[in-house]
Amino acid sequence: MASRSDHPEILIDPDERWWVSRTNRLDEVQRGAQLPRRVHLRDCTIREGEEMAGVVLTVDQKLELAHAAQDVGIDEIEVGYCGSIREHEELAKLFRREGITASLSSLNRSYTRDGEWQAEVDRALKSGVNIIYFIAFCNDDLLTSVPWLPKRDVPARIEACVRYAKEAGAEVMYALAGASRTEPQWVSECARAAAASGADIIGVADSMGCALPEAVEYLVRLTREAVGPGPRIQFHGHNTFGLATANALAAVRAGAELVDAVPLGLGEGAGIAPLEELAFAIEVLYGVDTGLDLPKVADFARLTQRIFGVAPMPTKTIIGSALYSHSIDSHIASILRGKWYSWECINPRVVGQTRRLEFGYAKIRRGSSGAIGAKVEQLGYKANDAEIDRIIDAVSEIAARDRWATETDVERVIREELGGDGARATS
Ligand SMILES: [Zn+2]
Repeated sequence: MASRSDHPEILIDPDERWWVSRTNRLDEVQRGAQLPRRVHLRDCTIREGEEMAGVVLTVDQKLELAHAAQDVGIDEIEVGYCGSIREHEELAKLFRREGITASLSSLNRSYTRDGEWQAEVDRALKSGVNIIYFIAFCNDDLLTSVPWLPKRDVPARIEACVRYAKEAGAEVMYALAGASRTEPQWVSECARAAAASGADIIGVADSMGCALPEAVEYLVRLTREAVGPGPRIQFHGHNTFGLATANALAAVRAGAELVDAVPLGLGEGAGIAPLEELAFAIEVLYGVDTGLDLPKVADFARLTQRIFGVAPMPTKTIIGSALYSHSIDSHIASILRGKWYSWECINPRVVGQTRRLEFGYAKIRRGSSGAIGAKVEQLGYKANDAEIDRIIDAVSEIAARDRWATETDVERVIREELGGDGARATS
């Protein structure tokens, strides 16, 4: 097996779980990054996932998802709007009765009429959640839908909400809905109001998924400057432009300690950052701890796929079967010669996948250097050029008929052509 010293440019996991770019970790690449020591991925599968149009989950399915999230190592699960949606209030109580010990958070509207938001906090806390997550409106567009709350009164409302929930004993999180479509000055001012009144976590949300990673990084840094080192910073971002993961990582680079995620990137609109992408990118590429069990993250993604009734996509990042299937002759040859990592980054066993080799029609290259020659060697045979040629012809015939020959087909052809047991033939 190749060792670390043979490959100074590759970052090799000692347990052969992954081989990735060492360039990621160079000082000149990471200059200016303020990576936290640990990133907590908040599980939003039940709340954000069910906000997908066309998705309605049963209580049993939600309980199964909550147990799975907890088993992966997730320490915070979003239950829903426990102060304003009766079914969510009941769900939080059920989670506590059924042994969910992770932190549970309720989303609470800070922009409802006076009297209403206080009652929502009271109901949410009675349901058994320990985190109250206030969503504030502050940009001109969103405020037109709440005419009882003039823009100038928003910071004072945020302060009142945070103080009320803190006094009731909750851990308090606050985020401005659509912060990325809000004037940065206001983002700062509202965050400062939340922190000054004791918020534990300050959120930055790209609710519509329309910010660039550079803008997210800027907003997280701006928020940190506004609130100081005390509160932790959280990021929630949608995938409208396919940038949810890049944006979440930009937030982490700027120091965000909490990031929202859903397996497979499900959620309202184009969904949010996929849990499996964030977990692997943060752990493997950045080397920052998430506290999660990576093989179980892949299992959780498959469970979510089944419960949401989503068709598996072969090219799905991290867990897709196509990442571990090969039909390029030189790739198959490397794998058969013992170098799986030349054309894969993650060992399939880490994500519960199995490797598959396809000897496809019009993809088999002539000569003994390629995939067929490698298979002959792997079986312990020696073959001359004419024999290799005949094996390639026979395998190509199968591929022409079936679109590709399987590894078993190829082994059968080789044994038929060369006879006997390959391992014995060379001994
Ligand atoms: Zn969302």
